[in-house]
This record gives sequence, structure tokens and C-alpha cells, in this order.
Amino acid sequence: MAKARPLQCPFCDNYLKRPIDIRLKDLEILGGICPCGSVYVLDRTGHQLGQIYMDALCFACKGDFEKALSLDPEDYEDIDLNYDFNSNTTGRGRTPEKTGKLLFLRLKMKKSDAI
Ligand SMILES: [Zn+2]
Repeated sequence: MAKARPLQCPFCDNYLKRPIDIRLKDLEILGGICPCGSVYVLDRTGHQLGQIYMDALCFACKGDFEKALSLDPEDYEDIDLNYDFNSNTTGRGRTPEKTGKLLFLRLKMKKSDAI
């Protein structure tokens, strides 16, 4: 059985706070930002990952919807975790009914930008 763990960024292992209400241009999400540059967005029901995915992309682009749409899959990394809002813990494996999903997304530095 998978053990619940305190919420940590899957990219840098930083401990994170619960998602909060965020409004950014047309975006309204429950989420947050990690100091490493990744963003996370909560899907309370665990059944709207498609929508959450788009929100996370848009959030990562600072609310720039057109930029979010122009990204290729190789431009970012994403990880989704089962998340319990009440205890602020994540777990893998079987998903209890009430568990939501937390989607982490981080934009990759393009090679052309790194020169
Ligand atoms: Zn991080």
C-alpha cells in the first residue's frame, strides 16, 4: 500500500502549501507555484484532468493563453499525483473516492534560449 506523504514538488522535492485560489487574467484555479518554477493546479474531483491540464499550461505561461496553446509537448514536463486536500498529502496507487488530482507542470528551457 502506498503511504501518504506531505505535499512535495516532484521536480525539486520542496515542501509545498495547499493550493490556494488564484486569479490571473481569465484563469480561475486552485493552485500554486514552486520556487523551482513549476506550477501546480488542483482538480478536486480527479475527473477533469483535461481542463486542469490546459489551466496549468496557461498558468505556467502567466495567463498567456495563446502562448500556452503554442507549446509543444516537449516544451514542458508534467506529473500528476493523487492529492488529499484535507491532510495536504499525496499518494500513489489506488485512488480513494474523495481524492483529487494535483497536476504539476514545469516549462523546459528551450535550447535556443540557453545559449
Ligand atoms: Zn519545485
